[in-house]
Amino acid sequence: MKNPKILIVDDNPLNLELACDVLELEGFHVTLVDSGEESIIVSQQNPPDLILMDLRMPGMSGIDALHGIRKHAITQDIPVVVLTASVMAGEKDRLLAEGFDGFMQKPISPATFAAEVSAFLR
Ligand SMILES: [Mg+2]
Repeated sequence: MKNPKILIVDDNPLNLELACDVLELEGFHVTLVDSGEESIIVSQQNPPDLILMDLRMPGMSGIDALHGIRKHAITQDIPVVVLTASVMAGEKDRLLAEGFDGFMQKPISPATFAAEVSAFLR
């Protein structure tokens, strides 16, 4: 896929500047939003090829945002991958059961991040 569009959802986007830079260097088009509510609206207006979703955010959680994205025909098939700092044992399976397409851990590894993200593109 050429120049894939990635939507990154995180309540602390400053933490994701490196992730953005790495993806943009590889030719990805990156959009950052800082809430689950906004991720639902933005993904309908301009559907991305992939969404990277934080879990713990004030207001709507990443899981609720995922469910909102899955509810709409335009966005229901977009891969949504968790990007979070830490998960408890067993939580990963629960997240995949909720409907996430995959799981990535912060902090990212700059050398491999773009390839890891690409693996989730359809
Ligand atoms: Mg957060």
